[in-house]
Amino acid sequence: MTVELTLLEAGHTTHSAGVARRGAGRAPVRFPALVGVVRHAGGVVLVDTGYAPRVVEALSHGIDRVYGGLLPVHVGPDESAVAQLAARGIDADDVTHVVVTHLHADHVGGLRDFPAARVVVARRAVDEIARVRGVGRLRRGLAPVLLPDDLADRLLDPMTLPRADDADVEPLGGARDLLGDGTVVVVPLPGHATGHLGVLVRTATRDVLLVGDAAWDRRAVTHRELPAPVVRLLSADWPRYTRTIDALHRLAERRPDLIVLPAHDEAAIAEARAELAT
Ligand SMILES: [Zn+2]
Repeated sequence: MTVELTLLEAGHTTHSAGVARRGAGRAPVRFPALVGVVRHAGGVVLVDTGYAPRVVEALSHGIDRVYGGLLPVHVGPDESAVAQLAARGIDADDVTHVVVTHLHADHVGGLRDFPAARVVVARRAVDEIARVRGVGRLRRGLAPVLLPDDLADRLLDPMTLPRADDADVEPLGGARDLLGDGTVVVVPLPGHATGHLGVLVRTATRDVLLVGDAAWDRRAVTHRELPAPVVRLLSADWPRYTRTIDALHRLAERRPDLIVLPAHDEAAIAEARAELAT
């Protein structure tokens, strides 16, 4: 069984280049919100859902305004994941699973648009959102209003999935097989946010590891160039974050055939698209 991977951008934010990569300067750069669309025999798996117009509204009240001010959201009605899928003839109900790398607004903005999907997310990340309030919530970049009301019923904790062969992702470990055929493998990438996940997609031509925000710039993976020091404050666990970067770096060296793709690196996304098309 083979799967096909399409890479969509559901809106974007902007901030200075040096935030994502130390020394990259203060010029504003575009940070697209990546959505991975995996077509398989039984339907469609999404990896993250990007921004949707509701995010603008969600981040316009109370303390969430601070987040919206720091990372302005740009997303038109046609840019949401559900609208882009519809334009490709894919109905929201065709989506069987949404793997959420983590619960930040730029990853769960479109989640409410897929009411039939199982939501693959670390249970402890969802538990945390219920616990933290105010500044703590802001620091963690969480906007609970973006989560579906019936999330608890549709939640699929990756720890409950069958184990996958770690050989493809070593030195990462803890791989889990989402569809039972090894084509979509969920891998813990801890550090950036509680329970952060990555997804290995094995297409007919290439293996692609969607790493979410475990790396913001592919040079973090290829050259271990880390984000600005301020990002430490916004990371759930900075030492684990740097260990995950080290592990991704070793994986990329061991497997030069593997496309390691951060969720917000515009150039890397464009290149991956071109490679997947060949
Ligand atoms: Zn993000």
